[in-house]
Amino acid sequence: MSNFLDSKYNSLVPYTPGEQPKDMQYVKLNTNESPFAPSPKAQEMASEAAKRLQLYSDPECRDLVKAAAEYFGVENDEIIFTNGSDEVLNFAFMAFCENGAIFPDITYGFYSVFADLNGVEYTQAPLKADFSVDINNYIGVNKTVFLANPNAPTGIALSVEDIEKIIKSNPNNVVVIDEAYVDFGAQSVIPLIKKYDNLLVTQTFSKSRSLAGGRLGFGIGSKALIRDLNTIKYSTNPYNVNSMTAAAGVGSLLDDEYIKNNCERIKQNRDYLLNELKKLDFTMTDSLANFIFAKHSTVSGEEIYLRLKEKGVLVRHFKTERLKDYTRITIGSREQLEILISKLKEILKELL
Ligand SMILES: *Cc1c(COP(=O)(O)O)cnc(C)c1O
Repeated sequence: MSNFLDSKYNSLVPYTPGEQPKDMQYVKLNTNESPFAPSPKAQEMASEAAKRLQLYSDPECRDLVKAAAEYFGVENDEIIFTNGSDEVLNFAFMAFCENGAIFPDITYGFYSVFADLNGVEYTQAPLKADFSVDINNYIGVNKTVFLANPNAPTGIALSVEDIEKIIKSNPNNVVVIDEAYVDFGAQSVIPLIKKYDNLLVTQTFSKSRSLAGGRLGFGIGSKALIRDLNTIKYSTNPYNVNSMTAAAGVGSLLDDEYIKNNCERIKQNRDYLLNELKKLDFTMTDSLANFIFAKHSTVSGEEIYLRLKEKGVLVRHFKTERLKDYTRITIGSREQLEILISKLKEILKELL
């Protein structure tokens, strides 16, 4: 730390992104990226846009907003695009959390970082013993609610009915539903924005749309909420979405069949992985995301993580008490999963 850092940041602990080691070629199943390339249409439109990089990007992202508004059945001014959905989540912490925030004790690690960064007080409501969200913790709380649906790193989803109860019971606070993984089998609550002016839904192009490196996310909500978020955006960085990424986003929305087909393949691979892991004595949460959260009957999560890494397969391990027995495994391609399973068989043979 320098002598110059504002003391309000003295104790800030930044988010730890999943490791991206360069020492060897790993089978990467640790950061929930897509194993598939971006849609050819997205790639083509991004390279076209590269020819005009001497110009600033469009701060209103008009082409992208138009394509997305049509795609999701909302108005142009009910949507805001950001540099990954992390940015719109940060904007929501900046804009809407005067009375504090509440989110689960086990969820996306960035929520507490954004809260700390913005001086927002927060409560972490415990998940139930089976790792599901207890909706009673969020009914009439008078705080801004942040829920990832499906949740991370468990993959467990809430029903639309349960989310609606939470939204309805907090009319004076924003309820943010982070749908980063919704395309892999859960149901989106986007239609509810027409009914509730306190609902903000966020999604990302990083997972189902294979554009993690492009950094593209968005929020959908009432016009007033989107206007507030734009006030923050235009007070920080109006050009937050670069023109190549905006073009790739349009290409991706136009190539729906490609995206849907990839999501189907991920779901099939998820079933395959569930079955194979069961045979090897793992138990799993009921994941509707592009990852599985698995625990072996005898071998610790850390042991599995370390031994897999030695053998060239990366998965994610969390050291906290309630998560330490588990590993989170991204659903990759079938070939990647076959390598994972064969390495796991080797490891279990070595140990048991
Ligand atoms: C990946 C992820 C995000 C954000 O991803 P971006 O790449 O910033 O769009 C947000 N929430 C959850 C739960 C995630 O897993």
